[in-house]
Amino acid sequence: VSAPGTAIPTLDSPHIARLHRALLRWYRTHGRTLPWRGNHDPYQILVSEFMLQQTQVARVIEAFRAWCVRFPTVHALARARRREVLLAWRGLGYNRRALHLHEAARAIVDLHAGELPRDIPALQSLPGIGPYTARAVACFGMGMRTAVVDVNVERILVRIAGLERKLPVRELQRVADEVLPRRAWYDWNQALMDLGAMVCTAAAPRCDSCPLRRLCASAGMHALPAARPRHARVLREPPRRFYRGRVIALLRDAPGHRMSLAELGLALKVDYHTDDLPWLHDIVVSLMRDGLLRPEALLTEAKDATMRSDPHHVHLELVE
Ligand code: SF4
Repeated sequence: VSAPGTAIPTLDSPHIARLHRALLRWYRTHGRTLPWRGNHDPYQILVSEFMLQQTQVARVIEAFRAWCVRFPTVHALARARRREVLLAWRGLGYNRRALHLHEAARAIVDLHAGELPRDIPALQSLPGIGPYTARAVACFGMGMRTAVVDVNVERILVRIAGLERKLPVRELQRVADEVLPRRAWYDWNQALMDLGAMVCTAAAPRCDSCPLRRLCASAGMHALPAARPRHARVLREPPRRFYRGRVIALLRDAPGHRMSLAELGLALKVDYHTDDLPWLHDIVVSLMRDGLLRPEALLTEAKDATMRSDPHHVHLELVE
């Protein structure tokens, strides 16, 4: 395991070799066991990366297993209806990701004969796939030698090198690629992620138990923040994305995946009042724009409801 070194003085070649040895040794005994780890099916890696984008690992594990049974191949997912895909996304939140994954599967089948392209720019041209996901699929699913840089990896590299500021994206990727081992790149990428999740966390790095503490320019410099004095809790209104997620969750469980606006309003807020209708309407329209709800049902019924002059009779359905 070696790398030629980087333009950053604290990351020269001998130092990088020591980092490789220390982190890979730690990873062999402390690395997490995850169902997508060691899995080299590019499609299943793509699924895991979509799920992990905004959901914690613990919640993704079971959902990933169930998904791979329900849609074991890219063809199975591409054939599915959008409603089936949304129903299978249960518990993961940020439901638009499910539709993007579905669109990506259809594009892979339509444009690439069902094979994920073995090329990072081509992967990035697929719906919902950004630079991080493209590289993760290339490395973890296809064995390609490329650095996979998420916010955790960025934080670790910046801390190890003792940089005072974050690097621009391209520079960061270049440095990460230069630090990548010549052979054990898969384990290195996975190990950095584990270190970021378990040891070198954003708020409270555990430098004392870090395998890189003797090699890191920032070891011990990120003291734990002092405990904040306890104030009376201020109850805040949850953000709109919370209610967007609740609407989809309610429709998933509703008979026929269909509810009236009135039912939805009351299910969302115990003190729902007709004055809240514009608020509810905005949420529903944003979900329709994202393709998560059936617009036809709403538009047709909205017309009827207008005639009855009570929009609360309008029914909403999960997208077909
Ligand atoms: S020594 Fe501390 S700051 Fe450096 S990588 Fe380890 S946990 Fe992070």
